[in-house]
Amino acid sequence: CGIVGYLGSREAVPVLLKGLKQLEYRGYDSSGIGVVHRKKIKVIKEEGKLARLEAKITEKISSTVGIGHTRWATHGGVTTANAHPHSGPLGLVAVVHNGIIDNFALLKKELEAKGNVFMSETDSEVVAHLVESYLDHGPEKAVSMALDRLDGTYGMLILFKSFPDMIIGARNGSPLVVGVGQDEMFLASDAMAFAGYTQNAIFIEDGEMVVLNTNEYRVVNRQNIQINKSVEELDLDT
Ligand code: GLU
Repeated sequence: CGIVGYLGSREAVPVLLKGLKQLEYRGYDSSGIGVVHRKKIKVIKEEGKLARLEAKITEKISSTVGIGHTRWATHGGVTTANAHPHSGPLGLVAVVHNGIIDNFALLKKELEAKGNVFMSETDSEVVAHLVESYLDHGPEKAVSMALDRLDGTYGMLILFKSFPDMIIGARNGSPLVVGVGQDEMFLASDAMAFAGYTQNAIFIEDGEMVVLNTNEYRVVNRQNIQINKSVEELDLDT
């Protein structure tokens, strides 16, 4: 239902939690965050209200890059396992997804035939498995190859264990907006998620993929042609 990502030099966990709080008004049934911490992707997720997620974070998790999600379940019950982020079997990527992957059952069958074991009942988990299976091609190409396999709607973010200064986002039917800060970037389903940090935004359109680094963004379409985007100044109330 809501997504937020952060890349910069602040502590990511409080930024993500604050962002998710700003998206609470849209409704959700579970929440979770994923950050790169000590060279690994650490995922914390929990069914129910954000306060339950916060209560689960009992120690400081130092990280400057991460993604977060509030889920409104469409495929798979309201459980902690079905909450996002979802990881690939090797823990190389984590994905948060809004929307519905229509052909997930087919993709899941294909991946299971290769020996992949799924940890959730969601449609979203196939995205993480697919990206991971293509990762030898590099992160950007891997996401692009995964998107080529998907039918359905998405606003999503992908976090990489081995590329901690990058987040990739993609949009088809669910909103996605980049918040451009000073040596820091935000990526969310709703600009409210980065209110208080930056007013400068770039709206991602359907069929576009955005590759974010701390002080750089590149937007390409499905034909891998670079799209020039303009930065809009918003007036976000905090
Ligand atoms: N279809 C996904 C799920 O059920 C995402 C739902 C959402 O947009 O929150 O987990």
